[in-house]
Amino acid sequence: MQYSLVVGGELVPGARSLDVVNPATGDVFATCACADAEQVNAAIAAAGSAFSAWAASPASERSRMLEALADRIAAEAEELARLLVSEQGKPFGDAMGEIMASAAMLRYFAGFQLEDEVVCDDETARIVIHRAPLGVVAIITPWNSPVLMLANKIAPALRAGNTVVCKPAASTPLTTLAIGAMCAEIFPAGVVNVVTDANDLGDRLTANPAIAKISFTGSTATGCKVMANAAQRITPLTLELGGNDAAIVLDDADIEAVAPQILGAAMRNAGQVCLATKRAYVPEDLYDAMCDKLAELAGEIVVGNGLEQGVSMGPIQNRTQYEKVLGFLDIAKEDGRVIAGGEAIDGPGNFIAPTVVRDIASDSRLVTEEQFGPILPVISYSDIEDVIAQVNGSPYGLGGSIWCGDVSRGLAVAARIETGIVWVNKYMDLRFDVPIGGVKSSGVGVEMGREGILSYTRRTVINSQPASAA
Ligand code: ADP
Repeated sequence: MQYSLVVGGELVPGARSLDVVNPATGDVFATCACADAEQVNAAIAAAGSAFSAWAASPASERSRMLEALADRIAAEAEELARLLVSEQGKPFGDAMGEIMASAAMLRYFAGFQLEDEVVCDDETARIVIHRAPLGVVAIITPWNSPVLMLANKIAPALRAGNTVVCKPAASTPLTTLAIGAMCAEIFPAGVVNVVTDANDLGDRLTANPAIAKISFTGSTATGCKVMANAAQRITPLTLELGGNDAAIVLDDADIEAVAPQILGAAMRNAGQVCLATKRAYVPEDLYDAMCDKLAELAGEIVVGNGLEQGVSMGPIQNRTQYEKVLGFLDIAKEDGRVIAGGEAIDGPGNFIAPTVVRDIASDSRLVTEEQFGPILPVISYSDIEDVIAQVNGSPYGLGGSIWCGDVSRGLAVAARIETGIVWVNKYMDLRFDVPIGGVKSSGVGVEMGREGILSYTRRTVINSQPASAA
């Protein structure tokens, strides 16, 4: 298959090309189009030209096309999932889950009713909050869940009447280009544009004065650069950045029930999830038993090529991140006691054994920084107040979880955690109608739900004479 850019409704070859590596084998398995700065500008111009007609089109038309895209993605789910495994590494079942969730996300926003809100209608005034699309939205996505991150941005952006220029990460461009080609057949020319880069044109995209909004998911460091560009023109933006989510186990928790969930939340997608559990705090009395159980379960995880049957964890997506995770393994050995994994797995792929680390101090870099890999540090505690202070002392504020017997105790702790979402006795329960977003260095704004789609609109308050005065 040819993987072309999508600019102005056309599939166009790139000014450059990009080799795509399968992280499970280390082999280049595909080559795709890669844009240069002029092609990024052309995509922005095409989106700009398409904007007013798209914004003026009936909402029902826009919904119909989002539904058509969802149908197309669902119809080609297996093929897309295989492509996703090949470029990203996750197990095939998880890849299918991502593809189908993306189709469902498109359908959710296709059905969303975005109506003006009447806030006052009496003898003094009629006041309406009118919502209109913003213009050209720059959509920049990361390499951990490229399809879902694309869907949760284009669905609300397009439904609200914006046009988009999408840029995937340089190491996972193929699924986005494949979906871009579908969009070229479904949407009017210029409504959906896709450009790729060699991790060097994001800056061009966000600095372009024709961009009306930026929606970015990626690291906090890159998010800072995006925000600096947005600051030049006060461009609205949504940033979904890093996290250091804690799992806090209370002293009445049932270890057998809780351990598999905590480990699952830490190891999903080989730990490469912004909302993954990145540290666990366990009371002294439960500590040994919990560590033993986590280590036992980590040993049962089957690591390998996500296209092979029975594999439950794939490789680290790219070499740079792999080297970073290896560095965290060194810290694990120095600062704690490794009770499962602890090593890279031999072979050409970026595989790392699921790792559990105990007897580690809460100020180790493995605890205070975001590892974004399959390494779970488990910290013993005696005073829950200390844990709450440590968790809230993090510069991050994305998510977290509380694990307990008596739910009312869990809820009381949850209310004191300074993050965008806290789960109690569950994890990663994400719903399309529930806004999600980080606080502090984990981000600005929210995605999903009513608040999510409203962030792709401008608000005009229309305050008029009451109808009775006419
Ligand atoms: P990582 O550091 O793990 O590669 P990033 O946050 O840098 O993750 O990448 C997320 C996305 O941001 C990718 O699509 C990447 O190409 C893009 N990106 C990288 N640098 C910039 C930048 N200066 N401005 C905008 N986007 C960027």
